[in-house]
Amino acid sequence: MNHFEYRGGVLHAEEVPLDKIADEVGTPFYCYSTATLTRHYRVFAAALPKTALIAFSVKANGNLAVLKTLGNLGAGADVVSAGELKKALAAGIPAQRIVFSGVGKTKEEMRIALDAGIYQFNVEGEPELDALSEVAASLNAKAPVTLRVNPDVDAKTHAKINTGTAETKFGIPWSRAHAAYAHGAKLPGIEIVGVDVHIGSQITELAPFKAAFERVAGLIAELRSKGHRISRADLGGGLGVPYRLDNAPPPDPAAYGSVIAAATKHLDVQLILEPGRLIAANAGILVSRVIYVKPGESKVFLVLDAGMNDLIRPAMYDAHHDILPIREPQPNAPRQRYDVVGPVCETADLFARDRDLPEARGSDLMAIMTAGAYGSVMASAYNARPPAPEVLVHGQQWCVVRPRMTLEALFALDRVPGWLEH
Ligand SMILES: *Cc1c(COP(=O)(O)O)cnc(C)c1O
Repeated sequence: MNHFEYRGGVLHAEEVPLDKIADEVGTPFYCYSTATLTRHYRVFAAALPKTALIAFSVKANGNLAVLKTLGNLGAGADVVSAGELKKALAAGIPAQRIVFSGVGKTKEEMRIALDAGIYQFNVEGEPELDALSEVAASLNAKAPVTLRVNPDVDAKTHAKINTGTAETKFGIPWSRAHAAYAHGAKLPGIEIVGVDVHIGSQITELAPFKAAFERVAGLIAELRSKGHRISRADLGGGLGVPYRLDNAPPPDPAAYGSVIAAATKHLDVQLILEPGRLIAANAGILVSRVIYVKPGESKVFLVLDAGMNDLIRPAMYDAHHDILPIREPQPNAPRQRYDVVGPVCETADLFARDRDLPEARGSDLMAIMTAGAYGSVMASAYNARPPAPEVLVHGQQWCVVRPRMTLEALFALDRVPGWLEH
């Protein structure tokens, strides 16, 4: 479900025609819909108990305007660095709705988070427990901690985003969970408050979640019997979204909510969820212009002005993104198979292979759909290409919420050492 639809022959974001934004902002650009962000947040919240904390995963989309939109709805934030923490705070998300995940928190980051007074640390290993205790004790504080356990469940998703099997770097191995809790309980700067799990991303079946949550529920009962006070269960993020409109959709948030409810109903814990993709993916698109329609030996290439530096998901995760022309094609328009590529000097700079599309011409505008999560946040300036700017639409209003970087700004931080100057 999203708010990008054809109206009067032109793809709109809510009530704004995308060709109008393209004329004013230039291409490529990301465009986000407030209505879609809001709807996804509300549908997800409705599937959960009222006391649940929905901590939006900032790594999926860290634009301040997006964070503020969600924060105003009541969302918290799941952050994985001091930078994301500062962004969430800058967007007005209260520290008491912020949880800090990640496998490599530094002591400096811990200090910043303790000073801010965040809600909890999701700790991923014993050495991190020791470091956090040391930092907290030096501040005369106790850090509220859940331990991220690795339930050894295969989330059946792409290998690069599968995090819940035994041999990933994430979480505490299941066999060490009890020892880690016993260790944490003895540390002066640690207050154990719960259990945390996150098994991966773009998960399109409920069975792996069910298996993981049931294991967590069992662990909570065991930990309590050993005297640990467990008042929170952080169940991570990871529910998949439909990237292809022609495929069976992944389970909806309500079905996911009932799996959560069934696994946790007797536990008397506050639930914390960390959705990213689910909220933001279909709330954003990347709009790009065709530079050339280039005939090859046996293929035709659509060369876009957006590249893998703007959206790396196809190159990195073999991800599929639907591609729609901004100008609505006639139903009987001639069609053509294209390799849709970017201008970056890498063969991997390819958005779609052998994609059947309405025949395109140079300077046509195209929308790469479902680009609101893990899109702009992963952008780089490779090939000295300033990453695409970001636009947020709200009804008839729209605003550039991150402008295009100038070429001068792109290398303004480079420094030439003295020995090269004369
Ligand atoms: C990436 C991540 C999330 C968000 O995952 P989505 O698939 O975008 O919902 C949540 N929690 C942790 C710890 C993560 O690393």
